[in-house]
Amino acid sequence: MSHRSGRHFLQIPDPTNVPDRVLRAMAAPTIDHRGPEFRALARQLLADVRRPCGTTGPVAMYPSSGTGAWEAALVNTLSPGDRILAFETGHFATLWCQMARRLGLDVVPGDWRRGVPADQVLARLAADPGHRIKAVTVVHNETSTGVTSPIPPIRAAIDSAGHPALLIVDAVSSLGGVDYRHDEWGVDVTVWCSQKGMMLPPGLGLNAVSEKALEASRHARLPRSYWEWQPMLAAAETGVFPYTPPTNLLYGLREALAMLGEEGLPAVFARHARLAEATRRAVRGRGLEIVCQDPGEYSDTLTAVAVPGGHDADQVRAIILDRFNMSLGNGLGRLAGRVFRIGHLGDLGDLSLAGALCGVEMGLTLAGVPAGRDGVGAALDYLTATA
Ligand code: PLP
Repeated sequence: MSHRSGRHFLQIPDPTNVPDRVLRAMAAPTIDHRGPEFRALARQLLADVRRPCGTTGPVAMYPSSGTGAWEAALVNTLSPGDRILAFETGHFATLWCQMARRLGLDVVPGDWRRGVPADQVLARLAADPGHRIKAVTVVHNETSTGVTSPIPPIRAAIDSAGHPALLIVDAVSSLGGVDYRHDEWGVDVTVWCSQKGMMLPPGLGLNAVSEKALEASRHARLPRSYWEWQPMLAAAETGVFPYTPPTNLLYGLREALAMLGEEGLPAVFARHARLAEATRRAVRGRGLEIVCQDPGEYSDTLTAVAVPGGHDADQVRAIILDRFNMSLGNGLGRLAGRVFRIGHLGDLGDLSLAGALCGVEMGLTLAGVPAGRDGVGAALDYLTATA
């Protein structure tokens, strides 16, 4: 491939742009993962990584992608034949259901444009007096649709039903970008990974674990070996991983956590909310439809955009990549070809977003998608007014 001047715009929801500071931090010699320097690093990180998750409890951190962290959450808490209440609210929720179905999952088909309906959670749990359902699994921010399922109403529904099911939440594409409170919201297991709001390359999968989930793990009988929580949780004290850790990614994690701390989490969340609103204004201004139907469920980390019938979203993306050197997310599962996704999370500022929105608008025009008003103008007006 010939050289292209200027920086590639990586505007997919994940992986996100890795800041230069993080890349530089990772470019250090790999050290002995059983030596004192590493043990101190691991202990520090296993304490600090809890902050963006809103927990003071234990965290297991695996060399894995998010899918591994999904599996860890299920196999540590459940037994063969257990029933799980899960809602297929999008592509990733569906993939998680597929994984869990082997465990005896009871799947409630959901609308791909809406979040998990808390009233349905209540109804399903109230109709389970024998407590056969052992866990409710929720994807907090569905990366395929840009739809968020608020967690507190789901917790409230479980409590209203007086049901002991565990609440297991996938915060893969929300954590680090939007406010997330594992402890305060009463989540039992939070699943996340490194390559989104944490601004790292892929390779770290994490579980935050409540007391109740820890207790469940003592009785859970699904086979587990690599994903066993206990030796991972022990690392918080010993600094020793049960197998070889991704040392250089952990250098990156230390730097990324420092960056989040320097900006301050409330400022990080406010930045994401503002960039998300600018993006939505650009989409609407251009006369296109946001996939998420309920403004109360808009994602602050990505926006999925439907292209008008007769147009191919993948062709729009291909034009944008070819002419403007920018990658956008594709439509996943049943949204393939009909949707593109603009990632606006991680290491992103006003001008980077403005550049990305310009690329989208120019690409749409080149692809012959009919123009509405001036989408970029609407976004810039908003960014200027709120600067
Ligand atoms: N959950 C969500 C919400 C995701 O967006 C993804 C990936 O994008 C995953 C889980 C799976 O993570 P991974 O691809 O790192 O295995």
